[in-house]
Amino acid sequence: MKELEEKILKEGEILSSDVLKVGKFLNQQIDTDFMFKMGEEVKRLFDGVKIDRILTIEASGIAFAMAVAYYIKAPVVFVKKSASANMSGNVYTSEIKSFTHNKVFRATVSCEYIKEGENVLICDDFLAEGNAAEGLIDIVRQAKANVAGLAIAVEKGFQGGGDRLREKGFRVESLAVIDEMEKGNIVFRKA
Ligand code: 5GP
Repeated sequence: MKELEEKILKEGEILSSDVLKVGKFLNQQIDTDFMFKMGEEVKRLFDGVKIDRILTIEASGIAFAMAVAYYIKAPVVFVKKSASANMSGNVYTSEIKSFTHNKVFRATVSCEYIKEGENVLICDDFLAEGNAAEGLIDIVRQAKANVAGLAIAVEKGFQGGGDRLREKGFRVESLAVIDEMEKGNIVFRKA
């Protein structure tokens, strides 16, 4: 998505060789008009695909997932990074290594929010090594539901997670794929 690439170049900040900060429009501060534009683009990419539910992970995946859900007209479920007191009954869990915090957390979601046989679209703001995506796929499988695909705002292609998922047969649609991010220079993958 050309507009996302332009926004990354204009408002993004390279924090290190593998961390991009997009706090001005995607994380921390949210450009809602732009978020909905991204949601509409995901709807276009997955047009004709049956999607019953959208699954993401707290916290920064929620806004993007909600914008996608607005156009796809499916409920959003977000996986929590730790079990909380307001979760009751059976839960699905998956251990995920956090890229940004460099620790392992137990992603948890109540079983009641993903039903057997449903087609689930996994959404997230970033795809790097693919650990968050793999954890969400694991949870969909535990629910005996199907992964309809993965919709990602920013994929850092040089970290390999997206291509590994594609090799496994998953449909991964990323609105921007960064293939190089060095010395203040960002190179996007050509469509
Ligand atoms: P992965 O599990 O694919 O290695 O990393 C994806 C998760 O880590 C996303 O949920 C996202 O929140 C976070 N993440 C990974 N790389 C970045 C990055 O460069 N910038 C930001 N803001 N978050 C990232």
